[in-house]
Amino acid sequence: MQNYYQPEFECASQDEMRAIQNEKLVKQVKHVYENVEYYRKLMDEKGVTPDDIKSVDDLHKLPFLTKADLRDAYPYGLLGTDLKNCVRIQSTSGTTGRRVVAFYTQKDVDLWEDCCARAVVAAGGTNEDVCQVAYGYGLFTGGPGLNGGSHKVGCLTLPMSSGNTERQIQFMQDLHSTILCCTPSYAAFIGETLKDMGLTPDDIDLKAGIFGAEPWTEEMRRDIEKSLGIKAYDIYGLTETTGPGVSFECSEQTGMHINEDHFLAEIIDPDTGEVLPEGSKGELVFTSLDKEAFPLLRYRTRDICVLSRKKCSCGRTLIKMSKPMGRSDDMLIIRGVNVFPSQIETVLLKEGYSVNYLIEVDRERNTDTLDVSVELTPEQFAEANDIAAKEKALSSAIKSMLGISPKVHLVAPKTLTRSEGKAVRVIDKRKLHD
Ligand code: ADP
Ligand code: ZN
Repeated sequence: MQNYYQPEFECASQDEMRAIQNEKLVKQVKHVYENVEYYRKLMDEKGVTPDDIKSVDDLHKLPFLTKADLRDAYPYGLLGTDLKNCVRIQSTSGTTGRRVVAFYTQKDVDLWEDCCARAVVAAGGTNEDVCQVAYGYGLFTGGPGLNGGSHKVGCLTLPMSSGNTERQIQFMQDLHSTILCCTPSYAAFIGETLKDMGLTPDDIDLKAGIFGAEPWTEEMRRDIEKSLGIKAYDIYGLTETTGPGVSFECSEQTGMHINEDHFLAEIIDPDTGEVLPEGSKGELVFTSLDKEAFPLLRYRTRDICVLSRKKCSCGRTLIKMSKPMGRSDDMLIIRGVNVFPSQIETVLLKEGYSVNYLIEVDRERNTDTLDVSVELTPEQFAEANDIAAKEKALSSAIKSMLGISPKVHLVAPKTLTRSEGKAVRVIDKRKLHD
């Protein structure tokens, strides 16, 4: 039996959803035009008025917003309401260097928490569950978002925040946590620590995990599922649109359902800005349909993915997005070849190595260098013989995926830094030189 949190939206027919979106979009464009001077100017420059936007079909007429606009308008320039109506501020983690602050009215917090509640229910959560939230709390949206969603579902919520991993496991055992929410890299670390403590998945009651906020591969999903004895669900979001819960995985696990009654998604060609037909790979663009305080229209996420309306066995009709495997600006260009770090992760895990790795790119005498350090597990380390041959074999496996040869270093257990939040697995030293 499937459960839904808000079936009237999650399972609406396409016509019903379109009607909801049309009505909200017309209202939202008016709201933004009247209240956000920054965006009004962009619309004026493009010669578009709110009267030109009569339905979702007119969306393409609106100008895009980019992260650069958010920086220009920092901190209050994109506010859609008086500050006195706002109740919350959150901020990005600054993964790509520039922080963004987002504002929320109580209604915005509510709709955000509803989206997270849908994700918790889709992962099998009910009021009988104990939900351990090990995303960071604070300005980062992970902790507060899942905390709110878990409350709305009625789960007994454990607001652990990230860190203090042994204590996480202690609480997990003592309080019988059934759902774990954190970044996938922290979930992997918790799995590793469980083993180090001499415990197995049978010693804990976890059944599901809701993991997101950073890219992770299918191989990593399987590793985490095994180490914690759970089913691992993906969740996606960004501070600019609210936080986690913009989209979430259901039991079918073939992409994440977008909460499209709140966030209208488009895929564009990142170079030309042209809207691409469904099924094309491109940059994801979101229009928030009913946020009051920070109502971004046509915001370019820089996340690259594909949208699909294929019927889903869970009964939800919400459009799905594929897992974004890195942002357009995560892509490394090494010796002229486009490399996404996730491609390297896929090879490492397929070859039986751990998710504890570090990619370093540098430039020596005008040639790019690529070094991949991979940590051996204690078992691999104990039986390690002929490390040089193993390094060579891994290097050629990566070469057949990328077309370029890295220098591989197999290193001793526990030598690379673990992450309790979003992992930093790439260091591009070339940037430090410029
Ligand atoms: P920052 O941009 O500083 O990382 P956020 O914390 O708002 O700020 O992160 C949002 C970004 O995190 C998204 O744009 C996306 O690139 C990434 N992200 C979030 N969830 C996922 C996910 N499930 N899979 C892949 N990437 C994700
Ligand atoms: Zn589904």
